Amino acid sequence: MLLIFRECATFALASQQDNLLHPRATLLMTKATDQIAGSETSIKRGLDFIYRVASTADGFDSYGSLLVCCFALVGATSRDASLRQLARSRAQKLAQRWGRAYRVVPPDASPDLVLDFVLVSYALSRLGLRDAALNAQIRTAAKRFSAQDLLGFNPVSEPPPDDLSYPCACGLKNQRGSTFCRQCRKRLEIQSRYRVWMEALANTYVGERCGIQFGARYSDVLKWLPAMRPYPVGADEDEEVVRDAIFAVTHIVYTLNDYNNYRLAPRWLPQEFVYLKANVEAACVQHDPELLGELLDSLKAFGLRTSHPLIRRGTRYLLDEQNEDGSWGDPDESNIRTRCHTTWTAIDGLRTCAWRGERLSRPDLKPILKRSSG
Ligand SMILES: [Zn+2]
Repeated sequence: MLLIFRECATFALASQQDNLLHPRATLLMTKATDQIAGSETSIKRGLDFIYRVASTADGFDSYGSLLVCCFALVGATSRDASLRQLARSRAQKLAQRWGRAYRVVPPDASPDLVLDFVLVSYALSRLGLRDAALNAQIRTAAKRFSAQDLLGFNPVSEPPPDDLSYPCACGLKNQRGSTFCRQCRKRLEIQSRYRVWMEALANTYVGERCGIQFGARYSDVLKWLPAMRPYPVGADEDEEVVRDAIFAVTHIVYTLNDYNNYRLAPRWLPQEFVYLKANVEAACVQHDPELLGELLDSLKAFGLRTSHPLIRRGTRYLLDEQNEDGSWGDPDESNIRTRCHTTWTAIDGLRTCAWRGERLSRPDLKPILKRSSG
């Protein structure tokens, strides 16, 4: 709370100074302070919604590992001390529940279950808790699978592909290149290469932070940055592909800033910075709080302040569009993961992080960024 007061005090000071030159500045600063106060309440309502979902059997079974991550990251990186405390205690409760349901990694664990273990282990590490014995089990389990099994492709030798389908509605994961399901013959939906890349970035990064190689090294996934540029824009592009590309870029930010630990200098990722800024207005107009939340969160990581017009625009949108139940997005959406993830990203778009300076999570990978920004 002290930190929030400090921010208000800064605004008050700034408004006094600006007031000498620009009478309108006082009004703008007052609005910015009001927005911060409104954000605190909204964020807690959003977290309450997610926690209610996490407390149901369905919600926990389908999304438990990521919900532990959600609370752990909010608890580890928020500037507001009361928010940190609330989120940490919920993360610990959920992690304990997860640990009771999954005490050891089963010998026949699927790639999805191994990923769940990795995510929970990562969440615990963000709370300062490590379980070396469990991490060793996860490491062994991950080694049973190839990069192809875990990531859908092998980033050592090829860029993210565009011939990977989503799992079929019948549950089967079909082979690469399939257009119809082998089991039920339905037409398959193909993932964009940006979607494949985004997941590989996140999963290899999070794994490595726990000492687990999840199919490949993070550096081997990140090195395809030049091949993924320029990012798609314009009316001619498939909307879903543009959306996936934006999510891929926010995950470059998240992995390189250690999921909200560090600020990033825009000069390290100039094309990504411009691309994110260019998409804020569209996310508001298209009523896409899930995308908007990550856009605001990432742009704040690049140093945009709460008083920046794009942050103000997006914050206003999120504060106005929160549902009665505290969630964001379509309240009639049946996919509980989508409802939770949308609410999670909106919270991230609204909250203020306690940045630990400007640096890369992996300073050794800076040459990859330099090589590709020419
Ligand atoms: Zn099928």
